Amino acid sequence: TVGAVALDRAGHLAAATSTGGYNNKPAGRIGDTPIVGAGTYARDGICAVSGTGKGEFFIRYAVGHEVASRMNYLGENLEKAATNVIIEDLKPHEIGAGLVAVAADGSIAAPYNTDGMFRGWVTPEGQFFVATHSEVFAVS
Ligand code: ASP
Repeated sequence: TVGAVALDRAGHLAAATSTGGYNNKPAGRIGDTPIVGAGTYARDGICAVSGTGKGEFFIRYAVGHEVASRMNYLGENLEKAATNVIIEDLKPHEIGAGLVAVAADGSIAAPYNTDGMFRGWVTPEGQFFVATHSEVFAVS
């Protein structure tokens, strides 16, 4: 799965996710990626989310919408909302899961409950970073 989230200069939020699903998936399976609110979700003023992991659970928990709802209704910041969903909700199911997200205030979060997750981001100043596990590398 490859996911991207963005906050533009006008303050709009966007999310996009692409996946091949998983090996030996049932014929006709849709998965969470194209389901807005599950594997992909963006709402101006709150956050944009793109997830990876076993899609059936992302659908069950409406992961993208759940992150936004925690922020909107509970007042959690992005890091707390995203971490709650990936760790508290999904980790007990023992499925590898992670997400990338950006909030309307420009904060970013990329929690995962696996050993590592490749991720990268660009700061408003144009600096590019990539990370695998806890190691972060500046690219430019
Ligand atoms: N979420 C995808 C799916 O279930 C798989 C993945 O993220 O690797 O189709």
